[in-house]
Amino acid sequence: MSSKPLPILPGATLGILGGGQLGRMFTLAARTMGYKVMVLDPDGASPAGQMADEHVQADYTDLAALKKLGVACAAVTTEFENVPAASLIELARHCRVAPSAEAVAIAQDRGHEKTWLADNGFATAPFTLINSEADLDAALAKTGTPALLKVSRFGYDGKGQARIGTLDEARTAFREFGGLPCVLEGFVKLECELSVVLARDDAGQCERFPVAENRHVNGILDVSIVPARVPESLTQQARDMACAVAHKLDYVGVMAVEFFVADGRLLINEVAPRPHNSGHYTLDACVTDQFEQQVRVLCGLPLGDTRLLSPVVMLNILGDRWKNGGPHWDALLAQTNIKLHLYGKQTARPGRKMGHCNVLDADLNTALQLAEQIRNGL
Ligand code: AMP
Repeated sequence: MSSKPLPILPGATLGILGGGQLGRMFTLAARTMGYKVMVLDPDGASPAGQMADEHVQADYTDLAALKKLGVACAAVTTEFENVPAASLIELARHCRVAPSAEAVAIAQDRGHEKTWLADNGFATAPFTLINSEADLDAALAKTGTPALLKVSRFGYDGKGQARIGTLDEARTAFREFGGLPCVLEGFVKLECELSVVLARDDAGQCERFPVAENRHVNGILDVSIVPARVPESLTQQARDMACAVAHKLDYVGVMAVEFFVADGRLLINEVAPRPHNSGHYTLDACVTDQFEQQVRVLCGLPLGDTRLLSPVVMLNILGDRWKNGGPHWDALLAQTNIKLHLYGKQTARPGRKMGHCNVLDADLNTALQLAEQIRNGL
């Protein structure tokens, strides 16, 4: 790699693979700090492309586009896990790339990720890899019912998942998923869900943001409540486990670890090699937000202070709200303690993340009530 010396300072150009909302918020953070940003995304109207100094509109495997990015940028990162590992390897021939292709590759595939977690001693929900229909019977005997069948690759926000009660249902779901490799997971009785967003730098220092308590609806994050309303011992354990995962991966960058809490125990659900939806609260409630942290770690700068400045509830705003004439922004914006973030997406679809807002209040329950009121009134 022909890397520029660290730290990379304002004035330099940074690159990001992926032009979605995470890329957009990275771009905004980087530009605020005086960096130029180049986005690679095939979509001409991507949320990040609208904000970048330059948008390279090409496929993630386009070698000429990757070279252009790698030559122009001092460092490149990614906003999503499905970027081909080969593209990161290609980029690394020209510039600094963080996180590494190896770390991203583990999180790309549910089966690979769960196997890696189990092999490294991290607790997960019981699971079995499914490569053919013939595997389903024995797998169901192991996990019991109900269970969840999840496609190993390209599933997100509850997509590519089916709840399974019988062998027949498992067979039908497996066929509906095109017979692709899947993971069959035991259905866990969740007490709650938590997540930890962290950054780990080249020297192995790990800075964690406060633990978020996450509530999902239909498999999609609805609200993150911070600080999480669980015993301190559990949040400490979650923070430690998240760092242990980052150390084991020798990870450099921002990442998120999602946890299930069941029987008072933490099980790792997923690892995301990027900033995370459940870390959006940091934009308005922490000294440093997760996107500034992504810029800092990419540039080899000291990691920012992750202190929480106020209790906060993050509410996702989904495309469903655009039915019947669109959201009532006036009611939301009439509240002076709510910060609105919209992603510039041109088409609203049910389940599509269009934006979020952060409700800040000295009293967490008041913030939660207001977030729910806004959600129901939008
Ligand atoms: P995932 O896409 O795997 O993160 O799943 C989305 C959401 O579905 C999770 O955040 C949980 O709310 C729920 N879920 C996923 N897997 C399980 C499981 N094994 N047991 C219970 N709930 C689950």
